[in-house]
Amino acid sequence: MTKTETNYPGGCLCGAIRFVATGEPLWAAHCHCQSCRRSTGAPFATFVGFPPDRITFTAGTLTAYASSPGVVRSFCGDCGTPMAFEADRFADETHLYLCTLDDPSAVSPTMHVHAGEQLAWLHLNDGLTRFRTSSRDGPPLP
Ligand SMILES: [Zn+2]
Ligand SMILES: [Zn+2]
Repeated sequence: MTKTETNYPGGCLCGAIRFVATGEPLWAAHCHCQSCRRSTGAPFATFVGFPPDRITFTAGTLTAYASSPGVVRSFCGDCGTPMAFEADRFADETHLYLCTLDDPSAVSPTMHVHAGEQLAWLHLNDGLTRFRTSSRDGPPLP
């Protein structure tokens, strides 16, 4: 019997950009870094990671912005919705903004990254694992 893979369709606010991610997400996390805040205008950004070859953009053309050396953030040039984050240091994964999925409740974040930059007025009590920077850069915060 062949296991049917899950499809995660999604898109931007205006609908010009559409994609489908296929298979199991690698992880999902809230990021509190300043660049995520600035690029979304929100107190944190929530991402879901997939291997790059498991994401197919089916409509529209992304606009890319190099937000820091080795980092490219892509968005819809028509409506401005942030769509993807790619970094040289995470070459084996593409980070999609989780809430661009048609069903954001289909994937639950399990951690906070760059929690060292979390805004003091933001109070979250979700019990998730917190990392000062990336989950690859050291053990979780106590
Ligand atoms: Zn759009
Ligand atoms: Zn970030």
